[in-house]
Amino acid sequence: MAISILALAFFGCAGQSPSNAHEARHVASEGLAERARTLLAESLRAHGVIDGRGPISIRCEGNHQELGHLARPRELSESRVTRSATVDLARREARGVWSLAHDDGVSTGKIAVEQNSVYWSNPDESEARRDTSEAQTRARFGLAELVPSALLALALENPSALHLDDAQTVSFVDPSGMRRWIHVDAKTRLVTRVERLESDSVLGDDRQSTDYLAWAAIDGLVVPTRMRHRRLWYVEEEVTCAKTASAVVIGERLPAAPGKEPPHVTVARVGEGLYTARLDHLNNRTMFLERADDVIAFEAPLDSATGELVIAAIDRTTGGKPIRWLVLSHHHPDYVGGLRPFVARGTHIVTTPGNVDYIRQIAEAPHTVEPDQLARAPKPVVVEAVHAKRVLGEGATAVTLYDIGVFSSHTDEYLIYHFMRERILFVGDMVSLRPGPITAARPRAVGLLNALESLHLDVERIYQSWPVRDRVDVLTIATLRRMVELCREQTPPPMTPQTR
Ligand SMILES: [Zn+2]
Repeated sequence: MAISILALAFFGCAGQSPSNAHEARHVASEGLAERARTLLAESLRAHGVIDGRGPISIRCEGNHQELGHLARPRELSESRVTRSATVDLARREARGVWSLAHDDGVSTGKIAVEQNSVYWSNPDESEARRDTSEAQTRARFGLAELVPSALLALALENPSALHLDDAQTVSFVDPSGMRRWIHVDAKTRLVTRVERLESDSVLGDDRQSTDYLAWAAIDGLVVPTRMRHRRLWYVEEEVTCAKTASAVVIGERLPAAPGKEPPHVTVARVGEGLYTARLDHLNNRTMFLERADDVIAFEAPLDSATGELVIAAIDRTTGGKPIRWLVLSHHHPDYVGGLRPFVARGTHIVTTPGNVDYIRQIAEAPHTVEPDQLARAPKPVVVEAVHAKRVLGEGATAVTLYDIGVFSSHTDEYLIYHFMRERILFVGDMVSLRPGPITAARPRAVGLLNALESLHLDVERIYQSWPVRDRVDVLTIATLRRMVELCREQTPPPMTPQTR
């Protein structure tokens, strides 16, 4: 190690030929890899002996926050979290169970990482066994973050990938391609912090960190008893942990869920120049209005790939007319997550005043981990705010945007779109109805009808963006009125919380 550093100094003083410079860099990086390996090995020893020991089980409890489908942009929902893990350091196996208790109930997930497979179930992914090597790696490292010895052992499995960033920090790219950092305390040699560079589908690069704030020795192994996990700009989780006698048991495993439906857009004409673009794989649809020389688009679900899919469908239908405006009803990810490809095309974004900063943040967020069109060719974003009402266009193809605000029972600000000539209303997630007998309206649909009546809007048909799977394609205003009547006939009114 010392020789490598001396060699670099020597080449540096002597003046380098290109090949010498290359060799010096190679020698230097080998030296840094060696020092990184030494630092992690010292740290692993400081955490205790892992060879020949049995599994260790810990249980953590604390607070969890996440970006939810809430009333304002960047608002966080809070829940209680418990995480239990059993980690077998010698066999490189781990099992974990977590649960989140929030207002809508409790959601739980399980994960088991074994020699050549990973199994997990959680409410978002449904029951599934994931055998891709990327899934295995991420699950393995994810569980190892609860017991840093395991993380050190995993990092040391591939010593040539290690790089010494500074005297106490080692970085490496794990076999799944994710960049990670391990920070080691100068004195105790315990791991103080681990980081990983994730890609958030809406907000881009997300360097997440876990700080280890307190430690205890358990059976000769030093394990963290307090941890804080940060992502984006907020603390996602803070937990305290203790040893537990009960090992995690995963129990019966269900087979992998069927693969997801492939992305697909179905365009349908619903009026003159007016189209819906249905995204069955997302249970969602958007709308666009073709005018003489340009297009107005409404809603941009989920992520940049979906935004590009919607734009391609608009291009196919309109022969590539420029998209002048993209109108966004509210700030939830299934309405704004796909806006970046529109910005890349020079489209102006139209939304309510409370969303303007958040829209800018999405458009300007670095996306180096998973670059999209806008990351490859950056463009400034133009956001136009609607104060209560705005008419886009004129004459027969004009569309009026209304902010129905608290009438939505959903977000503080909420745009609905009224196509006057067609007497069509397009709304995001205000109302939907399953085929069959008409059922009672929920609070959002009641609020929508109240808003339509107070605005005196002449509406015949209502299209919603979400959900569309197993739902009536288009509602008449008479149906909405009947739904609200049924709701008012019920006592007490339905208060089931809606989660989207
Ligand atoms: Zn929503």
